[in-house]
Amino acid sequence: MTVNHARRKWLLLGIGATLTSPKIFAAQKIPAVELTSNSQQVNVSLPISGEHSRVFTMENPPRVIIDIPMQSFPPSLTHSLVVIRQKFPWITQAKIAHFTPQTARIVLQVTAKAQIKQQKAAGRLTASITVPGAAMAAAVPAVVTRETEHVQPPKKNLLVMIDPGHGGKDPGAIGNKGTYEKHVVLSIAQHLQHQLKTRHGIHAVLTRQDDVFIPLYHRVSLAHQHEADLFLSIHADGFTNDQVSGASVFALSEHGAGSAMARYLSQSENSVDAIYDNDVHTQDAYLKQTLFDLDQTETINRSLHFGHHLASNIIRVHHMHNKHTEQAGFAVLKSPRIPSVLVETSFITNHQEEQLLGKPEFQLKMANALADGINTYLNEERKEKLLG
Ligand SMILES: [Zn+2]
Repeated sequence: MTVNHARRKWLLLGIGATLTSPKIFAAQKIPAVELTSNSQQVNVSLPISGEHSRVFTMENPPRVIIDIPMQSFPPSLTHSLVVIRQKFPWITQAKIAHFTPQTARIVLQVTAKAQIKQQKAAGRLTASITVPGAAMAAAVPAVVTRETEHVQPPKKNLLVMIDPGHGGKDPGAIGNKGTYEKHVVLSIAQHLQHQLKTRHGIHAVLTRQDDVFIPLYHRVSLAHQHEADLFLSIHADGFTNDQVSGASVFALSEHGAGSAMARYLSQSENSVDAIYDNDVHTQDAYLKQTLFDLDQTETINRSLHFGHHLASNIIRVHHMHNKHTEQAGFAVLKSPRIPSVLVETSFITNHQEEQLLGKPEFQLKMANALADGINTYLNEERKEKLLG
């Protein structure tokens, strides 16, 4: 009891520091390699081990090479590469491969000569990487959709992390006609990323761009490592009753689920890691615990507000199972600081909705509604000066 209390206090102090520092997992156990980013640059931190640890540039074409003393690549690192590739327009390719049996090599192909600032301290090499004059894509002022709406141009480049549920060995729910949840939610997420950019000038990245498995806590951790401002997980789950239909929006609850449906869905989503993730390392376990044991009240309130904006836009294109943002203990929503919402776009177990989910027009309509909800929420937060 006492130990738990002390630990919680330590974690809260730790999180206080994260508001100014992106290195939120630094304390206690030092990970082998950290790949993080803010709105301007990519940061990397790795243990020093002679010529196995290097960060340098190469020409023709311009590249940044990061050598890491590491024999296998943790999935969290490869997922991070997917995120930075989408986040920075000046990174055109991001790959990792073996350079020698003892050394992994990350190659970032960049649009122009990169600037690297590096330092060595306490047995670690840290480097920040940027391409001068080509920082993150310039933020476009949000499109004014109603005449009365006065929108202030954003001062900071906002980043929305879109999380298409499931993937790889975890198919998610499967409809009667053989529609896979993992495929339809990826498609909606890709439409959403595109709509946010073209209609609202909002930069978004996906936790996965392909059919790959990502543990739930990696998804949460990716959002933190790359300083996302919002997190939206997209699903299309099944239910035991095939008559049940409609979209639902969920925020985190610290005290159990609000309804039987919310309990059922959150339990089935949370069991994903236990079923499919047989590759949990000590480091991941630490990360898991750190992320999932924090005071959430303020973030939950903002998430509920975000959920309200999404629901009021979804209802224009599809009926809602419940018009109010529900609450349940979804693991993927347990971010200490980032407003996070999970949307069940429809029930794949319902015959009509399975058909709808497979249609590109419906996927696009749903993506548009989500994009509008994200845009109006961010505009409101800007006005309240909660965001840059
Ligand atoms: Zn799902």
